[in-house]
Amino acid sequence: MDTVRAKKNLGQHFLVDEKIAERIAHSLTGRTKALLEIGPGMGVLTKYLISNGEYDFRAIEIDRESVEYLHNHYPTLNVIEGDFLRLDLNTVFDGKFAVIGNFPYNISSQILFRVFEQRNLIPEVVGMFQKEVAERIAAGPGSKTYGILSVLLSAFYTIEYLFTVPENVFNPPPKVKSAVIRLTRNDVERLGCDEGLFVRVVKTGFNQRRKTLRNALKPLNRSLDTIPDELLSKRAEQLSVTDFVNMTNWIAESPLNQTNT
Ligand code: SAH
Repeated sequence: MDTVRAKKNLGQHFLVDEKIAERIAHSLTGRTKALLEIGPGMGVLTKYLISNGEYDFRAIEIDRESVEYLHNHYPTLNVIEGDFLRLDLNTVFDGKFAVIGNFPYNISSQILFRVFEQRNLIPEVVGMFQKEVAERIAAGPGSKTYGILSVLLSAFYTIEYLFTVPENVFNPPPKVKSAVIRLTRNDVERLGCDEGLFVRVVKTGFNQRRKTLRNALKPLNRSLDTIPDELLSKRAEQLSVTDFVNMTNWIAESPLNQTNT
């Protein structure tokens, strides 16, 4: 009973359509030769990834039963049993690597935050997400679904929405549609602002996304007096990456408010 309940939290929806598995595998550009698969499960994607030996391949899978299954069916496969969110990404390969997976949907945002943090190690990601999440990540400014991850990731990656996947190709079928997206690292090395502050500005701005930035950015506790009204009167969802970089530079120069506490 316990294992059944525990596994419910692993986001296990196994893909049963071989054509789609193949299509996902072929969505990699092939430019990065080291490849990490997150959550291979029973290996439906894996077999297309290892079939021609193109990649230096590793996988990380948290579910012991799946790991055993993979060991039995693919004895030479390099599977790490563990949690991707706890994996030290610097030790998986010698250098850079691509990431692929039909991701456990309950941790997909956390996976993407890790990608953002390790952007100089991960030149490419091909992933299946809940459709809504995929749309959110691929959205541009002005769209209602544009959010924190869209800004952070599009600062460093080109994001492509590749295709939609219906519920009925999974076992068990999820409640929502899925979609495959590809992130390819762009050539931006530095954003031209304090990047830690940039992340705070983006997160704070979207935290109250209906408010103008003049109000939404109050928690940063800075005097916003010198910042052009043109920026402050907008909402976070209207700002491009460049706008956020400019905003971050304005804020970096703004004095902290005096507090009376
Ligand atoms: N790729 C397979 C399975 C997808 S389901 C397929 O397409 O059929 C998601 C998989 O991720 C499951 O096998 C689940 O056990 C695994 N998983 C869930 N959380 C994980 C984590 N934190 N780290 C690594 N794998 C995880």
